[in-house]
Amino acid sequence: MKLHMQILIALGLGIKRNWHIFFGIIAGIFVGIYLHGHSNALIANILTFVGQVFIRLIQMVVIPLVVSAIIIGITSIGDNKQLGKFGTKMVLYYGIITSVAVLIGGALALLIKPGLGAAQYITEHTATAVQASVATAMEQQQGNVLNLFLGFIPSNPLHSFAAGDMVPIIVFVLIFAVALARVGDVNRPIVSFFESVFAATMKITDWIMFFAAPGVFALTASAVSSFGVDIFMSISKYLGVLLVGFAIQMFVVYPLFLRFFSKVSAAMLFSAIAEAMMVAFGTASSSATLPLTIACCEKRGISHKISSFVLPLGATLNFDGTALLQTVAVIFLAQAYGVVLTPFLIIQIGLLAIIASSTCAGIPGAGLITIALILNGMGLSPEQLVAGFAFLFTIERITDMFRTLLNVTSDAVVAAAIADNENEINYDLLNNPAAYEEIA
Ligand code: ASP
Repeated sequence: MKLHMQILIALGLGIKRNWHIFFGIIAGIFVGIYLHGHSNALIANILTFVGQVFIRLIQMVVIPLVVSAIIIGITSIGDNKQLGKFGTKMVLYYGIITSVAVLIGGALALLIKPGLGAAQYITEHTATAVQASVATAMEQQQGNVLNLFLGFIPSNPLHSFAAGDMVPIIVFVLIFAVALARVGDVNRPIVSFFESVFAATMKITDWIMFFAAPGVFALTASAVSSFGVDIFMSISKYLGVLLVGFAIQMFVVYPLFLRFFSKVSAAMLFSAIAEAMMVAFGTASSSATLPLTIACCEKRGISHKISSFVLPLGATLNFDGTALLQTVAVIFLAQAYGVVLTPFLIIQIGLLAIIASSTCAGIPGAGLITIALILNGMGLSPEQLVAGFAFLFTIERITDMFRTLLNVTSDAVVAAAIADNENEINYDLLNNPAAYEEIA
């Protein structure tokens, strides 16, 4: 083999996996931009195939992983009082982080007013191609909020497992795990069984990670190629507000949150979960990223007891990036269509964004479906609603990548804070990236 090839391969093998994924994202962006101008069906199909192989592989382990993680987590906490304390703290922390995201999104959108003068542009972009998704989204959100919550209680858990409905699955597994914890030692065979399931699924996650760099490359390239760069220019104000909001949440709110509630350094935590953050960006799915989020946290200092409980629940309930987007998007449309934003309406938007985001699933595009919950009460005409919605769909994927990055990072932020509070963190390991074990 030629010397330069040997050097390249040696370099490639020597670089840590998170750099491979990072290069995958960067290369994906460039290839995507190139493909936008030079469409090539064969390459597009290959990229979609490679990306889907990666996503399906990680989705394959999500349900066994979530079930086993929660069962082991809750039965290892054991005593009810401690469980209640963890649970309350978790809900409180997730609530704080999502509320702050909504406040930031709302403040930026009200201040910068990205929607002013955008009505004409929105109407022009009501592509017929997205009408079907819009109709489905509206239909799904037609029931009231109570019905939405009713749907979280699985009347047939097996049905929820088969359909992959995460919230009802989590509800069932939580109840089952608490019951197991209460029955004492007879739970041993089942808990041991799930300990084996957990270990095996983590092993599979390690293997899948060999495929992360090409997978994330392919996903990013096909996402970028499908919307191209020109659309960015015309909606730069809306996108700008979103990106600034995301950046504030990531680089100001999370570090402050960690400083306020724990001794964890945000820089250390971000390097510990770097692979999960990049896969979140590439896949736009916090559910699919969950196996990796758990692997990163557990292998780099956050105890299994905390990770296995807080992270699966976060990936199901905590969507602060989504809440931020929903707030900005709804205010954007209101401004575009001249809806008067009274203080009451603004509060309503904020509260509904917290609810709508937490009822969404950790899959691509889910946040844009649940946004209908907020839009329905805005007093927009059906035509405006459809046009507005269709507009949001046109730049859906790129915003999804960013909001999923936040959704996954904030799960880890909350897990780290709770682990710190409960003395369940190994700081020698977390603060020493050189000692991090590779995922895979
Ligand atoms: N894709 C996001 C996630 O998986 C949810 C959303 O669509 O906002 O976290």
